Amino acid sequence: MELSRRDFLKLSGAGTGGFFLYSVLKQDKVLASPKQLPLKKKIGETTTICPYCGVGCSAIMAVENGKIINIEGDPDSPINEGSLCPKGASLYQVASSGERLTTVKHRAAGAADWEDMNWDDAIAKIAAQIKATRDNYFIEIDSSGNTVNRTEAIASTGSVFPNSEEAYLMSKMLRALGLVYIENEARICVSSAVAADSETVGRGPMSNHWIDLGNSDCIMVIGGNIAESFPIAFKWVTRAMEKGAKLIHVDPRFTRTSAKADLYAAVRPGTDIAFVGGMIRYVIDDMAANPGNYNMTYIMEYTNASYLVHPSFTGPADTLDGLFSGWDGSKYDKTTWAYQSDPNQPDKIKKDPTLTDPDCVFQLLRKHFTRYTDDKVAEITGTDKTTFQQICQTYAATGHTGKAGAIVFSSSACQRSTGTQTVRSFGILQLLLGNLGVAGGGLDGITGAVNGLGCTLQGLVNHWGPGAGSVRMANSNEQSLSAYGENKARFASILKAWYGDTDHNTSFNYLPKRDGDYSWQPLFKAIDDGTIKGLICWGMNPAVSGPNSAAARQALRKLEWMIVIDLWETETAAVWKPEAGANPANVGTEVFLLPAAHSLEKEGSVCNTCRWNQWRYKGAEPPGEARSDLWIISKLMLKLKELYLGQTEKNAAAITDLTWNYGEPPDVHQVAKEMNGYDLSTGELLSSPGSLKDDGTTSCGNWLWCGMYTEEGNMAARRDTTDPSGIGLFPGWGWAWPLNRRIMYNRASVDLDGRPWDADHPVISWDGDGWMGDIADGGEEPVNISGKYPFIMKPEGRGYLFGPGRPDGPFPEHYEPWESPLLNPMSPQQNNPAIKSWETIARGTAADYPILATTHRVVEHLHTGAITRRLLWLVEMMPEMFVEMSRELAAEKGIASGDTVVVESARGSITAKAIVTIRLKPAQVNGTTVHYISLPWNWGYMGLSKGDSANLLSPRIGDPNTGIPEFRAFLCDIRKA
Ligand code: SF4
Repeated sequence: MELSRRDFLKLSGAGTGGFFLYSVLKQDKVLASPKQLPLKKKIGETTTICPYCGVGCSAIMAVENGKIINIEGDPDSPINEGSLCPKGASLYQVASSGERLTTVKHRAAGAADWEDMNWDDAIAKIAAQIKATRDNYFIEIDSSGNTVNRTEAIASTGSVFPNSEEAYLMSKMLRALGLVYIENEARICVSSAVAADSETVGRGPMSNHWIDLGNSDCIMVIGGNIAESFPIAFKWVTRAMEKGAKLIHVDPRFTRTSAKADLYAAVRPGTDIAFVGGMIRYVIDDMAANPGNYNMTYIMEYTNASYLVHPSFTGPADTLDGLFSGWDGSKYDKTTWAYQSDPNQPDKIKKDPTLTDPDCVFQLLRKHFTRYTDDKVAEITGTDKTTFQQICQTYAATGHTGKAGAIVFSSSACQRSTGTQTVRSFGILQLLLGNLGVAGGGLDGITGAVNGLGCTLQGLVNHWGPGAGSVRMANSNEQSLSAYGENKARFASILKAWYGDTDHNTSFNYLPKRDGDYSWQPLFKAIDDGTIKGLICWGMNPAVSGPNSAAARQALRKLEWMIVIDLWETETAAVWKPEAGANPANVGTEVFLLPAAHSLEKEGSVCNTCRWNQWRYKGAEPPGEARSDLWIISKLMLKLKELYLGQTEKNAAAITDLTWNYGEPPDVHQVAKEMNGYDLSTGELLSSPGSLKDDGTTSCGNWLWCGMYTEEGNMAARRDTTDPSGIGLFPGWGWAWPLNRRIMYNRASVDLDGRPWDADHPVISWDGDGWMGDIADGGEEPVNISGKYPFIMKPEGRGYLFGPGRPDGPFPEHYEPWESPLLNPMSPQQNNPAIKSWETIARGTAADYPILATTHRVVEHLHTGAITRRLLWLVEMMPEMFVEMSRELAAEKGIASGDTVVVESARGSITAKAIVTIRLKPAQVNGTTVHYISLPWNWGYMGLSKGDSANLLSPRIGDPNTGIPEFRAFLCDIRKA
């Protein structure tokens, strides 16, 4: 028997100074059957999943006498193989922190301090507040006579940190109450990637997974710093590099990712579309010269390259005005963006198999990007032409049949007024190179938080129900299930899960109907203008994380009441305090601060950014009176049901009829099973969303989760470390939605007969009877047999090079950020014409604020730092708010490293410590020197390390697709304090 490092340590007792006596040998760790229990070892060892970033590293908690005494990386995890980054390695400090909240805190309106309250009183008071506000401002019928059953007076923000089962119950309770203002971090972090990828390939999340990066021939990280923000995932980048893969990094700052890269391009913040637009132009030009270097079958068959577009369609290449046809001054009329129809084609779209017709997508794409020459790219981005050309050449080599390249990005690509089109450009490049569906390829947008995906997909953004895009919340004009349109079976099954015996046609109208934009920025405007009276804030810190934070804090102080559920006293909870610059006597907001359990102290599943659901176990009891979100939600809902008992008006039945049978304390397994769903005629758990029906005979809380908790057991708890695929799919480790598929769009990894393009890394292959390898996307036979194309979520099964569904153009076009020191070098259209703003906000000009600012995060701190700035080890490593600037800018401003400086924008000013570095260099754009600075956004006024928040400077302006704010490029000035 071979011993792993950890086995050796176990046997030798050396793992932790001989403190533990382990009874389990290696074979016991492989829990192939989902019915088996978690790791149980003599001294109480169990596993958890790191609560920080979207990588999803597994860790082992050692527990003695009910206390967690050590946490270390889990060597069995195929994702992290025993390693943890500094945040994960400091997890023990969360468990042992004396900073945690241990009692319920209540702050009366105008009071100067907190007072302790017991849970029973708090739950009773909170339930009464919610009921009073809900009932006072409840809208049963709208002005058009539609039943809408909603309240716009209560909002919910957060979260991305609870277990998926908790997020599901949160969603269930909030929708039953009639809330429509429901938003979480995903909106302000990566929502534009979802809009972009849905347009390009049909689904939002990362297409491949961490381990698969190891199969890549070239990885381009653009709009992200994976080495620092997702450190353990970077291991798979280096694993690929050890096998000869190239790493390209495109970013305004030279970071740890750049330090490892073969090629690094410094770009001006906000110019990625120009950079990737130039790469697309290079690929199309090279394709004409060297067609044998590209997979033309993939382009022809698996994309819409051959589709003919309306002959009157024009774009910026025709008009040179930066606009596409149909612009009416405020929005696009998309009539000319439609395909030409052909009655002789099965899908009725006219096609040109030669790709030469000037109206075909391929030719329109070529024409559009012809303007993005090497010189133009250098002019806009400030990057040097030679490096750009080397990057084009290197990445284009992944277009060769059998080669694969991955594009990895995160929030810095997304948080722009052109965020969606930025990510669209990534998708177009990947489709041209045949890099989607294949091993080592991918459109890998990373969610920053551990369960960002798992929570958001439970319906914690305003327009989605549980199950996301295909299960949107109904609009006010949809008055019955039959009017709901597509995916009735999924919606009907949610209604059966939530309202049991109530006919699902009746319960359809229990749920609130939407009629407007309830996303993040309108939500804060509605708090500001007094529409929203009460806010429930779950593990989120909008006083720091939102744009124009000073305005957000002012708005929060206008609330009548606020409930904050967290581990610590966050900036949001303390927004009424002098530390926030407020006079408590003038703040009439009643605040409840509920102490939450940490993930180490509860059980449930989390879904990492690659869609892998893993089960985490409870290591210890939470401190003092802290309780899990599951417990808090359940207590609150049961109290609300009690209050509404006997009431008939204000849609009370939506609350009293709501199924809530999870026991006391609530059993997380019951919730997971409800999410999975049942065949109501047999009472058995379902195993596939394909079984869902719209006739009321199936229940399923979330169709994406259908298959995770079946009659076979809890699939997320599986710990089988074998990899029959040989390419790192690890199908028995946890469970990936949908249907345990590890690589999405994998039917694009094979030719029309089902033979893999890359025989050395087959994701799936057709053996004549069925598919071998991963779970085939859509399950259909090869294209030549079934006629079904691989991008199954798009109506024609093809990836979209031309994307007619977005409000700001079918192709990405470079526009300047909303605030920019330059005129757009590409066209007279300065900004995204469809840019979204909800209010008049202060806008800086280059004359007053000549420096471009961008933001970033650091490896030691997560997001607003609410957790990590409470942990001594991390605070010691990264103690203070700072601003990075180039030597050239520092010399101009007379600033030295270590100086305290003032950074000002049109929204406000902050102080920070200066770091003068060669990691930033000014860009030369058209003879103009553009200076920029970079600020971490991890600081606020609470915690062990306090500092000004970078978001005091950022504007409330949004991408037209999702309203994601432009955090990553805005104007400022800097001076020595
Ligand atoms: Fe892994 Fe992310 Fe946790 Fe670090 S923060 S240990 S990379 S999951």
